[in-house]
Amino acid sequence: MDINTAKSVLQNTFGYADFRHQQAKIISELIQGNDVFTLMPTGGGKSLCYQIPAIVRDGVGIVVSPLIALMKDQVDALNLQGVKAEFLNSSQDYEEQNRVEQLIKSGNVDLLYVAPERLLSDYFLSLIDNITIALFAFDEAHCVSQWGHDFRPEYQQLSIISHRYPHTPKIALTATADMRTRDEIVQVLNLNAAKVFVHSFDRPNIQYRISEQKNSKEQLLKFINAEHNNDAGIVYCLSRKSVETTAQWLCEHGKIALPYHAGLANHVKDNNQQRFLREDGIIIVATIAFGMGIDKPDVRFVAHLNLPKSIEAYYQETGRAGRDGMPANTWLAYGMRDVIKLKQMNSQSNGNEQFKFITQRKIDALLGYCEVSDCRRQVLLNYFGETLAQPCGNCDNCLNPPVTWDGTAAARKALSTVYRTGQRFGVGHQIDVLLGKTTAKITNLNHQLLSTFGIGNEHTAAEWQTVFRQLISMGYLAVEMDHGALKLTEKSRPLLKGECAIQLKVQKYSKAKPTRKSKQASDSHLSAQEEAIFEQLKQQRALWAKERNVPSFVVFHDATLMDIAKLNPKNAEQLLDINGIGKTKLELYGAKIMALLN
Ligand code: ADP
Ligand code: ZN
Repeated sequence: MDINTAKSVLQNTFGYADFRHQQAKIISELIQGNDVFTLMPTGGGKSLCYQIPAIVRDGVGIVVSPLIALMKDQVDALNLQGVKAEFLNSSQDYEEQNRVEQLIKSGNVDLLYVAPERLLSDYFLSLIDNITIALFAFDEAHCVSQWGHDFRPEYQQLSIISHRYPHTPKIALTATADMRTRDEIVQVLNLNAAKVFVHSFDRPNIQYRISEQKNSKEQLLKFINAEHNNDAGIVYCLSRKSVETTAQWLCEHGKIALPYHAGLANHVKDNNQQRFLREDGIIIVATIAFGMGIDKPDVRFVAHLNLPKSIEAYYQETGRAGRDGMPANTWLAYGMRDVIKLKQMNSQSNGNEQFKFITQRKIDALLGYCEVSDCRRQVLLNYFGETLAQPCGNCDNCLNPPVTWDGTAAARKALSTVYRTGQRFGVGHQIDVLLGKTTAKITNLNHQLLSTFGIGNEHTAAEWQTVFRQLISMGYLAVEMDHGALKLTEKSRPLLKGECAIQLKVQKYSKAKPTRKSKQASDSHLSAQEEAIFEQLKQQRALWAKERNVPSFVVFHDATLMDIAKLNPKNAEQLLDINGIGKTKLELYGAKIMALLN
C-alpha cells in the first residue's frame, strides 16, 4: 500500500487535487504503521492527516477529541463525503450507542470519534480489544499538558493506550506550539519514537490590522459595512455588559449579531452558537469564553474591541478567522484605557513574583506588537520563534505604512510634567498641565506654577493621549496600581536628559483603504456575474443544509461554490475537478448544480 492509494482517496472521496504541506509525508508514515506528532496551525489541514490513513488501513481509526459538541458535525461531513464515520459520546441515547457498537464489531466503521473518558472505560477497551484498529489519533493533544491553556485530566490517562496497543500507529495533533507543552505531549502519550512534523505558524490568508480607539462601536460598524457586509464574524469584548450592548447596537444597525458569554442561560448560548454555525452571515459578539473548538471554516473576520491578554491569546483568537484558507480580516481597536488596565491587571493579580514577571513580559510583547511600525506578521512569527524574511504585504503596516514623527520634544515635555507633578497623577492631569488648564485640581495643587504648565499647546488633548499611550506601551512610563499614577522608568532617563530621540506614530483612527479587498473578503476576485451565481449557489446550499440539518459548510465550503461560479463547469466531469467535490457529493448534488448553472 503506498501514497498513491492515499492520493486517490484524497481525490475521489474528498475531492481535493493535491496534498498540502506535509500531509503526504504524515499520511505515509501512518500508513506504514509509524507514530507521528504534528504541530500545525489552525486551518493547516490536520484532519486529513489521520482520516485518510484510517480509510486506507484495515480496521477502524479511533479519533480522540475533547470537543463532543463538534463530533456530530465532523461525522456528518464525513458521511456526506461517503466515509463510514461514527461517533460515540454522552449525547447519544442507549439505542444509538448500541447501533454504533454493532457497526464497530461488524467492521463497518472506518473512523470513530470518541471522548477520552469513553475510550478509557473498561467496557470500551474490551470492545476494541477484539477488533482491528487502524490507528489512534489524539486531536487537541495539548490537552494533556498542565502547562497548556486547556488541561484536561482525562487526557493524561491516555498514556495507557500506547501500552495496551503498542503496535497500532498513533498520531498526536495540536495547534499549540510551545516547547514545554510539546515535551509533555510526547512523554504522556509515549511518542518518543514518533516522527515530528512542525509546520510554520504563519496564516498568510489572514490580514492583521490594529487601530486606535476613538468610538470603537462606530469604527467596528464602519469596518463591517465596508468589508464584511454579509459575512460571518466574531467580535470579542472584555465584559459581559459590553457583549450585550455591542450585539444590540449592531442589530439596531441592521446586522444579525448574537451575544455569547458565560452569564447567559445554556439554552441561549447553545442556540446562538448553533445559529452562528448553521446560518450564513451571522456575527457572534462574545467574551473569550467563546471559540474553543469552534470549527467553522468560513469565519471571515475576527474583531477585538479590547486588547487581548497576550500575543498567544491574540494569535489563537484571530486564528479562528479564515480556516478555509480564503482571505480573512482581523481587526483590533485599542486605546489608552486598555493599556493602563492591562498594566494594572498584572500588578493586582496575586500570583507569585515569577508569575508576575512572565505576565509582564507577555503584556509588553503584546503592546510592542500593537505599537510597532513595521510588518506585524514578522513580529508575530518572531514571537513564536520563526523568522519571516520579507515584510508580509498583508498587514496594515505593510499596506499602509504608518507616518512617524520626531516625538522627542513632545516626549520630553510629557516626561518632565510627570516628574514635576511628583509622579503621583494619572494621564488626565498631566495633559491638563501641559495644556495650561486652570482646573480646580491644578489651582489647589499650585500646578499652574510648574515650568511645564501650558507648554504643550501645539498638540490637542487627543494627540497628547496618543503620546502618553505610546510612552506607556514602550515602557518610558510605568503605571501605578491603585490610581493609575504615572512614574518615570529607567528607560525614560536618557530621553529626559536629551541623550536620545524617539519616533512616534501619527494615529490613524480608521484604516485607509486596504489594497487587496473589495467589498467583502470572500468575494475579492469575482465579476458581477460570477458574484450573482455565487449568491444563488449559497442560497441553494442553505436549503440543502437545512434538509440534512447540518451547517452549510458541511455541504460545500465557500471556496467550492466560488470555484463553481468562476470556472462555470459544463458537465459532471468538470464539476468533479473542482476542489471539494468528490464522488459522493457529485452523486448527491452534481445534477442539481448543473441545472442551476443552466
Ligand atoms: P485544522 O484541523 O488543521 O484546523 P482542517 O483539517 O479543518 O484544519 O482543514 C482546514 C481546511 O482545509 C478544511 O476546509 C479542509 O477541507 C481544507 N483542506 C485540508 N487539506 C486540503 C488539501 N490537501 N487541499 C485542499 N483543501 C484542504
Ligand atoms: Zn506585514
